[in-house]
Amino acid sequence: MRIILLGPPGSGKGTQALRLVERYGIVQLSTGEMLRAAVAAGTPVGLKAKEIMASGGLVPDDVVVGIIADRIELPDAKKGFILDGFPRTVPQAEALDELLKQRHLKLDGVIELRVNESALLDRVETRVAQMRERGEEVRVDDTPEVLSKRLASYRSQTEPLIHYYSERRKLSTIDGMMTIEEVTRAIHRLLLALGAVEPKTHARTAANPAPAKTGANKAKSAKKPAKKAAKAVKKAAKAPKKVAKKATKKATKKAAKKAAKKTAKKGPKKASKKVTKKRAKR
Ligand code: AMP
Repeated sequence: MRIILLGPPGSGKGTQALRLVERYGIVQLSTGEMLRAAVAAGTPVGLKAKEIMASGGLVPDDVVVGIIADRIELPDAKKGFILDGFPRTVPQAEALDELLKQRHLKLDGVIELRVNESALLDRVETRVAQMRERGEEVRVDDTPEVLSKRLASYRSQTEPLIHYYSERRKLSTIDGMMTIEEVTRAIHRLLLALGAVEPKTHARTAANPAPAKTGANKAKSAKKPAKKAAKAVKKAAKAPKKVAKKATKKATKKAAKKAAKKTAKKGPKKASKKVTKKRAKR
């Protein structure tokens, strides 16, 4: 799977990328992280990027394209990757298209996390306060002033990518103002719809095991025929009157029979009560 997460600073791209890494076992390629590492290591790229990053501007396209071109060659990127913070300009997107084309690789999709700008400042302020409380080092570009500059860069240089990818039928937009969990679920549904992941990738990990067959679960399954009947009744309601009446009777009878049979086998009281109630009504 190869996807791009697109969104302004603070929209939750990094958080969601980490969750995708955990779930699908692919790598997160964050140009921001790579540049920060280069700055910390004092490499030539780092020296070039340091001031630009601190002021909230964008590092030159050739620098970031070079970083990504090298990074996608590494073995851990073979299975797939999530691009977080790249591309950020149309020339970067064009360079990425070329890089992928040369390697016969396909981009599955671009996911835009759309957020309310005024909420972003609140988010950053909260995040910075929490990090300070934990005694963690705060990014030099995470101040409200620099964030305003980063947002301006996003608007003028990165937002055109929305048009770029929508024209190429690659863009999907998700409401980034939902909770982290809801956004993750929406991304998963989207990846399923795009065919980028298998339906079975429901992350059955130790932290999220498959539900055990408990008594409660079994009782639930005994209720299923009743649910089916409700569905059939709804369907019948759409049919012509006479047929509908017949179908309703038939469906209710059939489902009630099924439920009674199941209940007789397994015996949960709840299901049998429901069936009796239905019969009494009739
Ligand atoms: P991020 O962690 O993605 O918010 O990136 C932090 C900073 O790194 C940005 O404000 C830019 O200065 C720089 N940067 C990261 N990715 C790119 C990119 N694709 N193009 C240009 N500059 C970038």
